[in-house]
Amino acid sequence: MPKLMEYAPFAGLHVIEEIHRVAADLQDKRMLFINSTFDGGGVAEILNRMIPFMNDLNLSVRWEVIKGNDAFFSVTKKIHNALHGGKDRLTPEEYAIFEEIQRQNLAQMSLDEEIVFIHDPQPVGLVERKKRNKNYWVWRCHIDLSNPNPEVWNYLKDYVNQYDASVFSAPAFRKKLDNPQFLISPSIDPLSEKNREMSMQEINNILGQLQIPTDKPLVTQVSRFDRLKDPVGVIQAFKNVKNNKDAYLLLVGGSASDDPEGAQVLAEVLDEAAHFPNILVRSLPPTSHLEINAIQRASTIILQKSLREGFGLTITEALWKAKPVIAGAVGGIPLQITHGQSGILTQSVKETTYWIERLLDDPNFASKLGLNGREHVRKNFLITRHIRDYLLLFLFVSSGKKREDFDINKSEFVNYRPA
Ligand code: UDP
Repeated sequence: MPKLMEYAPFAGLHVIEEIHRVAADLQDKRMLFINSTFDGGGVAEILNRMIPFMNDLNLSVRWEVIKGNDAFFSVTKKIHNALHGGKDRLTPEEYAIFEEIQRQNLAQMSLDEEIVFIHDPQPVGLVERKKRNKNYWVWRCHIDLSNPNPEVWNYLKDYVNQYDASVFSAPAFRKKLDNPQFLISPSIDPLSEKNREMSMQEINNILGQLQIPTDKPLVTQVSRFDRLKDPVGVIQAFKNVKNNKDAYLLLVGGSASDDPEGAQVLAEVLDEAAHFPNILVRSLPPTSHLEINAIQRASTIILQKSLREGFGLTITEALWKAKPVIAGAVGGIPLQITHGQSGILTQSVKETTYWIERLLDDPNFASKLGLNGREHVRKNFLITRHIRDYLLLFLFVSSGKKREDFDINKSEFVNYRPA
């Protein structure tokens, strides 16, 4: 891991000093992070960088993953889609599978750290143990909760209300809950393999190994093969681009162990891309960080045409590389992109086609969008800011404040920053 001071040129010395001060106040606390996969997807991406970073600060932080079978992860993917607004209902048998796996994990986990930090719906039910352990529990939601399926959200809400606090990525996701809510956006690590600087030679070597040609502009979307990322819509948008023979569309995806739909969506993508030699599809293992870095750096335009999105780390990564990004105007994406300033927001396949043509035709404008985007990420979405926010949150929840101390109905998000 890089040393904390190595982040000072990006983050500013004041953030580094604040991290040290807050970490000193948490030295006597043990913290446990729990999610549903060690690799694949944005949450694992963040935790893989954040946990070693926190341990380097001499904090006692552990990371565990909830264990489940195929049936459980099919149910949790259904819950994920429902929270993103999907209409599918869960059957009583599916709720029973969800609860049984929580019970099985509870039987094997002590969960007695002073602070337990649960990510997303898969392990939400572990909060059952709070009654016995009487420690502090925080639920961190990475999902776009702006328009959830009411039945599924009402079911989960009973669990979420048992937590001492909940955390969301964007203002639009705030919910009516009994506990205080915090707004903390995700982040990238500028010094990770995924984001560090690379030489042209390194980039070209990797593209060569992946058999990705570089003789024409690359228009790229990097995403798990998930329908909410709309890879088929991306292909349709590209097919309608005038002169699309003068560019390549590259779809790069991978799998995540908690996402059982990937193979099926990849098949749909390959079907839509068939017979178009300028449309390239690459499926990479979830640990291909340097490869993704090289691909993002080699791209002329990055797309993220999501239909729902909690935040979209792929956008943050691309903006950090000063790339012009065209993304869906949904969920947490507008936190990262102001249309026409730090990127382009689109609402449809047709608009996406228009903006691909426009940015390919106007490299100066495209370059300005990318540079503004990089500065926006530097100021707001680096790992140092994220760690500082989490540590302040942990101090806040473990300070002994009671729920009654918060005016929950009136407050927007709780401000946990000291005055
Ligand atoms: N990612 C990757 N390989 C892939 C697809 C995605 O390494 O084939 C990474 C991507 O670089 C990003 C994360 O997985 O760091 C995806 O996070 P995001 O928030 O964009 O979406 P999520 O998958 O969490 O919905």
